[in-house]
Amino acid sequence: MSESDAWHAGIRYHTQDSVHIILLGPPGSGKGTQAIRIADRYGIPHISTGHILREAARSGTELGRRVGATIAAGSLVSDDLITDIVRARLHERDAASGALLDGYPRTIAQAVALDAMVPQDGVIVLLLRVHEEEIVRRMRRRRVCQSCGITQTVPDADAAEAGHCPRCGDPLVRREDDDPDIVRRRLRTYAALADPLIAFYKDRRCYAAVDGLQPPEQVTTALFSHIARIRGDGAPPPADD
Ligand SMILES: [Zn+2]
Repeated sequence: MSESDAWHAGIRYHTQDSVHIILLGPPGSGKGTQAIRIADRYGIPHISTGHILREAARSGTELGRRVGATIAAGSLVSDDLITDIVRARLHERDAASGALLDGYPRTIAQAVALDAMVPQDGVIVLLLRVHEEEIVRRMRRRRVCQSCGITQTVPDADAAEAGHCPRCGDPLVRREDDDPDIVRRRLRTYAALADPLIAFYKDRRCYAAVDGLQPPEQVTTALFSHIARIRGDGAPPPADD
């Protein structure tokens, strides 16, 4: 059977050196930025659960209808359903050499399901470690332009006058979500799920934690070198530029 036939038959096909990277980290840790950099460097798709759920709901497929119905009912998407969606996404051609998973697995049940889905020796788990109060501090300094939506960091978290958007000149405001109490609540919700997941992975050879408080470029460098070490490469792959 050709590779193409295997795809159409829904048979899992991963290249010999496929790499599936799971990126864990609290909201506000810079995870989104790092996810994009890793996916770019390794030429693998960045699979964000939030994004594929929205995509699936729009797709009109059987899975998509189940997602749409769940969201419409105001329910959380179950482990089984999100696992079916991620499995289907990983079977797409662009994920043949792996993927960067952002938002999956979120529970132990999902982590167990992922182990059955991809070759375990190709899984790399990376945690961005950032102290809760540092995230609260970062979020307090974040302002967003009401008109064009760009995000800025202001020097003084308590300044009444937050300044103006460098692009359009409209006032910068604090998002309600960035309020310290709301940020702390979000971080507790995150930790309740993430702590058991970290315990599930942390003794594996494929697991590494990176200090997320470093400047973003240094975080990226640290992540790349862990990936290279875990994969047994001598060095990270050469940069494109
Ligand atoms: Zn603006």
